[in-house]
Amino acid sequence: MKAWKGNIVYTPTKEKFEYLENSYLLIEQGRVKEIRKELPMDFSGEVVDFGDKIIIPAFTDLHMHPFQFPLVGNGYDKELLPWCRIYCGPAEDLSEDKTFADRMERDLLNKIWENGLLHTVMFPTMNGTRVEELMDLYEQTGMACYCGKCQDDMPLFDATPGESCEESMKEALRLAGKYQHHPRVKYIFTTGWALDASKELLKEMGKAAKEMDMPFQSHLDENRTEVKWVLQRHSDCKTYGEVYDTCDVFGKEVKTVMAHCIHTTPEEQRLLKENQVYVAHCVYSNFDLASGVMPLRTYLEQGIKVGLGSDISAGHTMNMFDIIRGTIEASKFYYVTGGKKPVTTNEAFYLATKGGGEFFGQTGSFEENYAADALVLDDGSLNKDMKRSLAQRMERIIYLGDERIITQRYFEGEEVTQPFAKE
Ligand code: FE
Repeated sequence: MKAWKGNIVYTPTKEKFEYLENSYLLIEQGRVKEIRKELPMDFSGEVVDFGDKIIIPAFTDLHMHPFQFPLVGNGYDKELLPWCRIYCGPAEDLSEDKTFADRMERDLLNKIWENGLLHTVMFPTMNGTRVEELMDLYEQTGMACYCGKCQDDMPLFDATPGESCEESMKEALRLAGKYQHHPRVKYIFTTGWALDASKELLKEMGKAAKEMDMPFQSHLDENRTEVKWVLQRHSDCKTYGEVYDTCDVFGKEVKTVMAHCIHTTPEEQRLLKENQVYVAHCVYSNFDLASGVMPLRTYLEQGIKVGLGSDISAGHTMNMFDIIRGTIEASKFYYVTGGKKPVTTNEAFYLATKGGGEFFGQTGSFEENYAADALVLDDGSLNKDMKRSLAQRMERIIYLGDERIITQRYFEGEEVTQPFAKE
């Protein structure tokens, strides 16, 4: 048993923050035992005293494209489809060069670590060898991810033809088998969107995901033109979501995360809820590519599962404090332009921690039995002018904070240090 002493802040529910000043978080075998004001009389374990620092649950990034990392910030004058056609292919092609890819992946994993994104859902490329190398590298970091080869048998933009359904499944199953029992680096069946995969392939992926008890990820209703093209390609379906649902890759027995979900119909929202599909809300990507504003309040009211995603590189930042405030601002924009009431600071913080964390299991909160996955924050630089309450400090961290205030990162109670030396 060990204990961390400090100011403990977390959101067990969307409704409010828990603020526990100057308290002890007791950890047993990497999991939270309890939070107390005083140590038990018979406590004999190690105590780490963080003084006036703040301890929060570590973040989960539910959606990012690792091989687009060199593209961050470029091409945002375009909308999704031209952006993908002009920029994404060439950016991902850079990773065909092993030396370049290796350096880029190490930079990316350092950045993920800096920002306290101890759980990420990675959305890589079709090249199974590169995906395997990334997963092998991730294994060295002490952080957790879902990652899977992108399976596309009819890519919309690629100059080269897609892989056959058979080839695609063979390579995906090889990788899925390799990581089937890994505690932190896990496989997720992945396809670009319903524009890149045939129904035959989607059904094969759904079957394998169910048999191997592995999840599935893709994109849904990100951009209006994309939705139109999906419905032209799959003219037997009334909605984009129906394409996935009829292929058994839309929740129910296959845990699923769908990125964006901006232009959903009421029928798709009903399916998201009923099938328990997770929504990765990628607010900055939605702004950067002028895709739209997701109806977050509607989803929360309906009880749809939501977490936050950076969507690197259609989104420009991995700073989760920034993504939280972007989420709040988008909801305020939605409200003043006729939508439902905006989300609160605690609701958005919940989505970045427990909301997205649920996709991985019990992480993102400090309730009993949750993994002791935590970030320690030194916000002294934000409070030089005056003393503030813990609640005010937390608000300022969300609006002014970045990776520089994160002093320690812990995964299941063990400190995670910078994964790779900086060049
Ligand atoms: Fe994406």
